[in-house]
Amino acid sequence: MQPLPFPTPNLSAAAELDASNAGVVVLAVQPSGESSDDVTTVTCEIPSSLSDAIQSVIKNACDSGELTGKPGEITLFATGDSQTPWVLLAGVGTADQQSRGKAYELGASVVRRLIDKPRKQISFVIGQAIESDDHDAVVAGAVSACEGQHLYHSAPAVSVPENIAFVGFSENAVTRGGTLGHSINHTRRLVNEPPSIMNPSGFAQYAEKLASECGLSCEVWDEKRLEAENCRAILAVGRASTSPPRLVMLRHDGGGDEAPLVIVGKGVTFDSGGLSLKPSEGMVDMKCDMAGAATVVGVMHALAELKVPRNVIGLCGLAENMVSGDSYKLGDVIETRSGKTIEILNTDAEGRVVLADTLDVAVQHNPEAIVDLATLTGACMVALGTDVAGLMTNSESVCDAVEKAANAECEPVWELPMFPLYDEKVKSKVADIKNVGEGRWGGAITAAKFLENFVAEVPWVHIDIAGPAFMDSPKPHRDAGATGVMVRSLVRWVENAS
Ligand SMILES: [Zn+2]
Repeated sequence: MQPLPFPTPNLSAAAELDASNAGVVVLAVQPSGESSDDVTTVTCEIPSSLSDAIQSVIKNACDSGELTGKPGEITLFATGDSQTPWVLLAGVGTADQQSRGKAYELGASVVRRLIDKPRKQISFVIGQAIESDDHDAVVAGAVSACEGQHLYHSAPAVSVPENIAFVGFSENAVTRGGTLGHSINHTRRLVNEPPSIMNPSGFAQYAEKLASECGLSCEVWDEKRLEAENCRAILAVGRASTSPPRLVMLRHDGGGDEAPLVIVGKGVTFDSGGLSLKPSEGMVDMKCDMAGAATVVGVMHALAELKVPRNVIGLCGLAENMVSGDSYKLGDVIETRSGKTIEILNTDAEGRVVLADTLDVAVQHNPEAIVDLATLTGACMVALGTDVAGLMTNSESVCDAVEKAANAECEPVWELPMFPLYDEKVKSKVADIKNVGEGRWGGAITAAKFLENFVAEVPWVHIDIAGPAFMDSPKPHRDAGATGVMVRSLVRWVENAS
């Protein structure tokens, strides 16, 4: 059983539309009013290289009163012309409705509309209607649309277009957008693969192969090395599994002698809950409990491909949380790599236990800052819903920088408080700290307070992506399943810090 191959449409930038080989021509439709409240008619810039007949079909469509030009509006129609058989009109909205996020969604929704059939060529001719700074986001979206969760249909439900041309985009925008799109798709592929395939060693192999392709250095710690490195917390969580834990370390040496940034990801490749066993409905999507680690791989891939001038280390703490006679137990005390002891009061709060050792490895690299990503708590979803990532920090300045990058990429984040009063909630009677707070109140924050114990004095931001990393239902611009959230934001964060 083989999954669908990783999608790699040919991407190209073009100065002019080649009307003899345009395939599906994608044009932008804009409301002609200044603001969104003042929409009467729509306008569309029509390339003069299209035949007069097609031009008049498009003009008639724009004059019909049927189109609004709103973002997300997609109209596909046949032209009757053999050279340019299909035209797709995509609403891009007024200037005040446009954003980098909408540009990404535009590229994605258009291609998602067209992947139902094999297509040799799609030609985007929307350069004028989208800010040139956001052209790369359109490309990233278009590429992301080629990947989804349908990896094992015996008759593939999706056809990846052979060629996608972007008329009026620079080469740089197309290359950069392609890199971002592929990076997001690697993250999503890692998450969407079944857990028995993407177990700790399967994940490590994927990361190693990708690293060698994009020029990252990659070190994998197996269970023996983890033991030699005193990663007792990672080993405890993974002990009941026949697929032993791993730690993956990816390095991008883009800077000089400067201290690195470290990005850490929770990689619980399957979370049964352990002895604190989850019910089936809570366990069914738990292949996604490694989305933090998968995000690290996507971000590191992008940084290497984009040759970002910064030293960055990516760390993935990988374990499978299972049940056996050797499971780690409630009441167990674990001496973590840092020397701090933790009391286990719920084996389903395992992500923070894995991260305890992984963050300690990060600290050893004397980083300038650490960011960790984790599908850590249901409490964060209770607080913020499923579309928003929670930020928790010991450093307002680094948190502001992460927030600024996320805002620029239109990936919603919200900071939660880290008042000292929460520290009391993770104190244990028998060890230094315990792995759950008191009751369920403030669970996202008590989890972060637990992690804060393992970052020493390093400026650190914790991103809880339990909500936005994995979706139950699709959207016009994205399949359900893994989303690849925060890949774009963290790439931008590193670029801004360069
Ligand atoms: Zn868990």
